[in-house]
Amino acid sequence: MLQQICMSPKLILRSSTWRFRMAYERHECLDMCVLGHFQAMPMEICDFILEYLSVSDISTLSLVSKSINKHVLNYISSTNGGRRLFRQDFHTSGLAEGKSGTSILEHYRSLGLLFKRCTFLMATRQRLKYVRRMLCDIPCFKLCGCRAPLQCLGLQCCGSFLKILTAGWDEYECHKVYNFLCDLTNLTVKMQNVLNRKPGSAEELEWRVRLYCRNVMLDHWTVRSVSAFWLSRLLKPWPAVHQARLLYIIFGPVSATDGHVLWTSLSEGVVDMSSLEGLADALRLLYSSEAREWTAQDVTGLLDELSVMPQAWLLENNVRLLILCGNEICFMFLAGRAVTGHTADLARTVVFLVLVCEKDFYSMKWAVKTVQRVCKMFRSNAERRNFLKIMENAFAQVFMDLLGSVISGGRGEDDSNFQTLFCLVKAQANFHKEILYLTLNCLPV
Ligand SMILES: [Zn+2]
Repeated sequence: MLQQICMSPKLILRSSTWRFRMAYERHECLDMCVLGHFQAMPMEICDFILEYLSVSDISTLSLVSKSINKHVLNYISSTNGGRRLFRQDFHTSGLAEGKSGTSILEHYRSLGLLFKRCTFLMATRQRLKYVRRMLCDIPCFKLCGCRAPLQCLGLQCCGSFLKILTAGWDEYECHKVYNFLCDLTNLTVKMQNVLNRKPGSAEELEWRVRLYCRNVMLDHWTVRSVSAFWLSRLLKPWPAVHQARLLYIIFGPVSATDGHVLWTSLSEGVVDMSSLEGLADALRLLYSSEAREWTAQDVTGLLDELSVMPQAWLLENNVRLLILCGNEICFMFLAGRAVTGHTADLARTVVFLVLVCEKDFYSMKWAVKTVQRVCKMFRSNAERRNFLKIMENAFAQVFMDLLGSVISGGRGEDDSNFQTLFCLVKAQANFHKEILYLTLNCLPV
């Protein structure tokens, strides 16, 4: 009892798996000669029967005994089994049902379970050997193997298969899976190729790396700690500037027509929330308690690196990303500016925070509360008063800049600048109204 209490959950898990394996093998000693009707049948007939079973029935059958399990494994490795089980209609089937009556994604999920059950007595390295054959033989499972990846479900099927196969594996085993995939696809070298070039100069490779990472390694997980593990594996080997670049490649805005990463969209024009949601989700994940390898400083560092990726973004885009990242990351970023004395920078950021709240229908009360929290980070009243003065000047400056662009700009540009100017006037009024409510301690009707 005492021994069990002292054991870590991982050890308890490993020990129970071991006991189960021992029991299974003991039972197998008694069972070796008792294959029932299967013992009397030639192996070809057994294979013939397997041909008529669904993938999920085969995986249930594989649990009956070690001998049956071995036989199923032989069937999977055979030419007939391979032809039937490793479907490759990734381009034509969509989510439609195949011959077996299941969609191709469901088929690969069932196949993942079959592999999981057939190989559960083996060491991780040996289990992955069986997977290697499938991943090497199917072109659409490779990083650069498919000719039309945007119309292909191959990588998604590969991800679904690996998700089911590796669900419940401990971190040590998952590390092996990550290394196995990197080895198989040469992922690290391909990432290095992308990172050592100018953004956009290897656009096809960037796009392939994105599709592979998202579809095979990241998008299938619903448990946040597992998502954090896989994202950390992809980012951790690189310095911060490359981590930000990879985040942009994997989660940044892409063209709707060809899927290529849009490198200049955030520095050349204002983008909507949908272009930034992927980046915000990833940053929130890295900031969460599930991502144990990341500190708050790491995440603000990534935000700083992203904001100049590859050129300085428009401040409105920066602030939109900050708000999407959530209350805590947003506050931490602004507080960092206050503590390090970047007051003018902070003041302009607050102006755009107020503007984005107005444009995207966020609560202006939240903006006021955030500024109030940030003001507490200044060490003295004099510093606070100075910041408020700079902030009001920043409102006036942004207002004048926008007015200047409206007066001097061409017709097309006029409209968006005029709308932003109009929004800023309303935003400033609402912001100050909330401050007055707070100061006079009266609630809005
Ligand atoms: Zn394909």
